[in-house]
Amino acid sequence: MTDCIFCKIQQGDIPADIVYEDEHCLAFRDIQPKAPIHLLVIPRKHVENLDDLVESDKDLVSHMMLTIPKIARQQGLKEGYRTVANTGTGGGQEVFHLHFHILGGGVLHSL
Ligand code: AMP
Ligand code: ZN
Repeated sequence: MTDCIFCKIQQGDIPADIVYEDEHCLAFRDIQPKAPIHLLVIPRKHVENLDDLVESDKDLVSHMMLTIPKIARQQGLKEGYRTVANTGTGGGQEVFHLHFHILGGGVLHSL
């Protein structure tokens, strides 16, 4: 996806404050943080959102789910954190490359 901002971050074409990366995914700081710690975890592969996932993405999704707690631990989020994935315009999605927000480090109100 040539015009996808998160693909560009993934490829190193535009800068981001990357806090974690491996073969399948990476995490970087949200440019407009909504909590003291606000990270975005994205797959290296361009997938638009949860609706765009297919059966063969099973291992990728499971890897990301298992990696999120590791990243949170590395960031010192001992008291917990919130994980959010917005899907589609109705879900408030603005960047159409799958991402999981990790929010924490302060008081979050219940949803
Ligand atoms: P969403 O509404 O779930 O699509 O969230 C997209 C998030 O990406 C927002 O919280 C933005 O602040 C964040 N964002 C957009 N551009 C960048 C960027 N270049 N680097 C880091 N975060 C970004
Ligand atoms: Zn992309």
